[in-house]
Amino acid sequence: MNVSSLTIKKIRKGLIDKKFSCEEIVKAYLDNIQKLDKEINAFIAVFDKQAIEQAKEVDKLISKGKTLPALGGVPLAIKDNMLVKGQRCTAGSKILDNYIAPYDATVIKKIKEQGGIILGKTNLDEFAMGASGEYSAYGVTKNPHSLKHVPGGSSSGSAAAVSAQMCTVALGSDTAGSVRYPSSFCGVVGMKPTYGAVSRHGLIALASSLDQIGPIAKNVEDAEILFNVIKGKDPIDATSYEQTQKADKKVDIKNLKIGVVKECLGHGVRKEIVDITKEAISKMEKQGIQIETVSLPHLEYGIACYYIIMPAEASSNLARYDGVKFGMAKETDDLLSSYFETRGEFFGTEVKRRIILGTYCLSAGYYDSYYLKAQKVRIKIKQDFENIFKKVDLLLTPTSPFFPFKLGERLTDPLSMYMADLLTVPANLAGLPAISVPAGNVDKLPVGIQFMAPQYKEERIFKAAKFFEDLC
Ligand code: GLN
Repeated sequence: MNVSSLTIKKIRKGLIDKKFSCEEIVKAYLDNIQKLDKEINAFIAVFDKQAIEQAKEVDKLISKGKTLPALGGVPLAIKDNMLVKGQRCTAGSKILDNYIAPYDATVIKKIKEQGGIILGKTNLDEFAMGASGEYSAYGVTKNPHSLKHVPGGSSSGSAAAVSAQMCTVALGSDTAGSVRYPSSFCGVVGMKPTYGAVSRHGLIALASSLDQIGPIAKNVEDAEILFNVIKGKDPIDATSYEQTQKADKKVDIKNLKIGVVKECLGHGVRKEIVDITKEAISKMEKQGIQIETVSLPHLEYGIACYYIIMPAEASSNLARYDGVKFGMAKETDDLLSSYFETRGEFFGTEVKRRIILGTYCLSAGYYDSYYLKAQKVRIKIKQDFENIFKKVDLLLTPTSPFFPFKLGERLTDPLSMYMADLLTVPANLAGLPAISVPAGNVDKLPVGIQFMAPQYKEERIFKAAKFFEDLC
């Protein structure tokens, strides 16, 4: 069975019309995983037996004429930093090599309640730190469009799995672009919700004021369906929030004004990407969409600000991995040396770099000059967006300043790896929803563009992204 054209709606219709069984779909995806994943390395774990059992249950439901829930029979992949009860959850790190999740993350609970079939857990840069999929302790993930190139990160496995037809949809997490960025590199759709729109309970924390879980899919409609399943207030996550405002009146795309951020088409962004974005703008303009050039004057400080706030929060979040409470441990004669040896041996280089940076920024004497300053810059960036959204309804930018690079190309230069976040990180700093959609190719490698909207205006970005998708 060929699963490449399957979407959530097509699965639903096909199952109800008995064109195929759920067992057939699941087995077809598992076959793809078996054939392709030795090379791509998108999965850390595959739950083949359980997935087939669940598929049989779905088939039984259908034969009894029962109604299918929203994700009934849909095969999904989950980034391995979200807890699935009873399964190992590594966060791409050796320090959690033996850690078994004691409960389901809220998003997993919701997916299970809606009949989704979890095929496995996907590879990621260690603790979601990275932009290439090369920082995982479980091997490098490769781009399905070219095995010599990176798939983008840190949700490398989830984006590669969707792109290579190894699942229908997937979940990633996005702290600075880790859903949108690999989606752009792998030619799929990736969406970061408003901060708080989706519960973070059961997501292994990187930087708690920035992290959001988001869907990755082959098209915008699937991303929207999955988002609608996972969103909502969660009593266990105090930062989660239910949107109670009235529906967005402006949601007819022809009434929306799109702002093109001039700084995002300038210095530091590859010319080919600027060209693809300009082509996308002119396609939309030809359809009567109103476009206006706008400015985000503090955008250039986004990366500097993020690489203070994120390591600071990460160094604090990662303090819990001490060999006592979670995961792997080195036994030594005294407690202090067991901390040193456990963390020294089981954390990777990038994670250690960020812990050192973050601890430094938070230490007495430096807190005011670095951490507090960065928080003030974050407010400036937020204010830029508030001002801009008085004039336009949506923003359009490229997703990434460069296209998929060769494996190993940026490994020895962390700063050039950090530049990947240039265009995606502002949405995290301001807590905005954003989506990346495929817009073109450079040398057969995919390039995405990004739409951003004010907080809780997810409907707008889905509308605009669908409209653009239909033009392609
Ligand atoms: N490139 C970002 C980083 O390394 C990605 C973080 C994320 O979104 N998880 O911090």
